[in-house]
Amino acid sequence: NSKAVATPKRTKEILNTYGFAFKKSLGQNFIIDVNILKNIIQHAEIDKAAAAIEIGPGIGALTEQLAQHADRVVAFEIDQRLVPILEDTLTDYDNVSIINQDILQADVRQVITEQFEKGQPIKVVANLPYYITTPILMKLLMDRLPVDSITVMIQKEVAERMAASPNSKSYGSLSIAVQYYTEAEVAMTVPKTVFMPQPNVDSSVLHLKMRDEPPVQVENEDFFFKLVQATFGQRRKTLMNNLARHFKSTMDKQEINQRLEAAGIDPKRRGESLSMQEFATLAQNFRAHLN
Ligand code: SAM
Repeated sequence: NSKAVATPKRTKEILNTYGFAFKKSLGQNFIIDVNILKNIIQHAEIDKAAAAIEIGPGIGALTEQLAQHADRVVAFEIDQRLVPILEDTLTDYDNVSIINQDILQADVRQVITEQFEKGQPIKVVANLPYYITTPILMKLLMDRLPVDSITVMIQKEVAERMAASPNSKSYGSLSIAVQYYTEAEVAMTVPKTVFMPQPNVDSSVLHLKMRDEPPVQVENEDFFFKLVQATFGQRRKTLMNNLARHFKSTMDKQEINQRLEAAGIDPKRRGESLSMQEFATLAQNFRAHLN
């Protein structure tokens, strides 16, 4: 399609026609390479049966590709100035709805019920605004929306942290938070040159496949995630040190030691070496103790 939005020439034309000035504060870096978009669509496993939710359509570069490959597309865009532009660039498609709303304020579940057919596979696909990547993804995950997968372009380092395995330098509480809800995989890395304007950081496409059930049994999720965060509190300190700090008003070191022993975990280990299952066992033992 020679008239695709995602080329340097067409993007410049559109920006000029509307006198559009980028807002850095909204993370506006538009994609100007159709091949990258086609790759994203493939990783997202979009087909004509699927419904797509996009966050931040910009001037419609990815939206247009989604409209061509999916059954229906709903896109949330916070910047009101982009609404008339999107009406123009997407005029050929009758399967797209633009919602002029902050995704963090949106009732996505409600929109899904209203806009998609019951039982339709739903895929979230986006080139996310980098300043709120983690809040957006955590909202989508914690709301337990009925979506199949999330495929997003995000900052490379954040993608690596979300998909990291134990004992790697990127592994941390964010890895556990994301992998509790999904199977996470970095699908590809993307050079800065495919954006206008070019961002300062490298990007990756992260593919998250929603789990039907969490991979471990957790009695109290809030307690579990707080404990995970505490063990990574000071990365270079041992489990014992971080836990002693976290529980200092409720437990002495001896008690902590006993709980760790009961969990079968060496107090001298560091948080970064613990698997999700070990964190679950840890939470179970410390939770049982507090009750
Ligand atoms: N999808 C387009 C593309 O790939 O060329 C634009 C991607 S750009 C990185 C991020 C987009 O998200 C911008 O259009 C920006 O206005 C929008 N955005 C920023 N914050 C948002 C929010 N809280 N809710 C919805 N959209 C937001």
